[in-house]
Amino acid sequence: MLYDCLPCRVDVNSSLRRLSEDEQGHRPVSEASFDDIRGVLGDVPVYRVEQVRHAVYRTPTTTFDKIQTLPATMRVLLGRQFSYEALETVRSEMSQDGTQKTLFRASDGAVVETVQMLTERSDSTTICLSSQSGCGMGCRFCATGDIGLTRNLTAGEIVDQFLYFRRRSKASRVPDRAVFMGMGEPLANLSALEPAVRALVDPSRVGLGARRVTISTVGLPKGIDALVDWNLPVGLAISLHAPVDDLRATLVPIAKRFPLDELMAVSSRFQRRVRRRVTYEYTMLDGVNDSVGQAVDLAVLLRGQRCHVNLIPFNPYPGSLYRTTPRLRLRAFRDALHAQGVRATIRRTRGRDISGACGQLHAGVLASPRAPGAMGKPKTNSLDTRNDISGKARSGKI
Ligand code: SF4
Repeated sequence: MLYDCLPCRVDVNSSLRRLSEDEQGHRPVSEASFDDIRGVLGDVPVYRVEQVRHAVYRTPTTTFDKIQTLPATMRVLLGRQFSYEALETVRSEMSQDGTQKTLFRASDGAVVETVQMLTERSDSTTICLSSQSGCGMGCRFCATGDIGLTRNLTAGEIVDQFLYFRRRSKASRVPDRAVFMGMGEPLANLSALEPAVRALVDPSRVGLGARRVTISTVGLPKGIDALVDWNLPVGLAISLHAPVDDLRATLVPIAKRFPLDELMAVSSRFQRRVRRRVTYEYTMLDGVNDSVGQAVDLAVLLRGQRCHVNLIPFNPYPGSLYRTTPRLRLRAFRDALHAQGVRATIRRTRGRDISGACGQLHAGVLASPRAPGAMGKPKTNSLDTRNDISGKARSGKI
């Protein structure tokens, strides 16, 4: 499909990928360990496994049969055991500001959206990754929260979102940063998140530095403690959205279980042990959480922390309950934080015209009701049995 809004009409759907019948149901090669690959190839020298990994993680190759460094017999063996990519692409849209949003579908029909954004200098890109299909957290200002949780993604499905863009990007759009700010609550899917992040930062695989990976959470204390134990200097962003418990629990229902004093304590632990500043995300909602008095309350809450506040203008979506804070009040809120000694910036919104901005990802479920069974079961709110943290949260164990 051609997008006329672009100055240079780019055919973004020309590289859409379909899973072949052979690939469906196979484990993605990005989930295979060094030994798994060697086990499939037989008693081969180590350099053969390194060639496979190099092709998978570092080259534009998109199928086993195009790995020129391997003999044909090895390519066939790999293709019998693994799929090259875990996800097929359903559609891809390009915003006027260069943001690209892609809708993926897993072999069981679960759908997920991923966004590629140009960095400030426009010489590389950041990939906004999803960790779940849908989300069970139900934040009141988020389109993904409205559709509920379908299931957790696997580690391969997470890593392959990044690799999809790396394999297909031009030199000026090569992704060099990953943020978990797409669909889902990453800390509700720790068992897949940890291997996915380790693959992203491993120099012999994706090879991003840990400082180039940021995990964004509604604030699940046990999950944040788990991040501390990983011993990796990844970034942490906590969705705060309100300076007091009552209002926060209205906007972020899961916050009823985790009062702010508990959240601030675990955040301070992260800052001390990981030695990284925490970012607090604060979505600005007109007349709800955006007064100067609330900015002062926020500054009091964050006093003494190594942190930064990211003010996010609310991005409306079909059926949303809130309005965007006017620009003048946004600035007044930021200035009030500065006056109290808290560092704060207003986030530049990207991809709003393609519903690719913060809180707008809904995989087309809100915009266009689907035929029953067309793409999985996106409206369910039930938690997958592998949903290790939020499952416990719902049963009251954390
Ligand atoms: S803001 Fe994040 S955690 Fe909340 S519903 Fe949306 S995707 Fe889920």
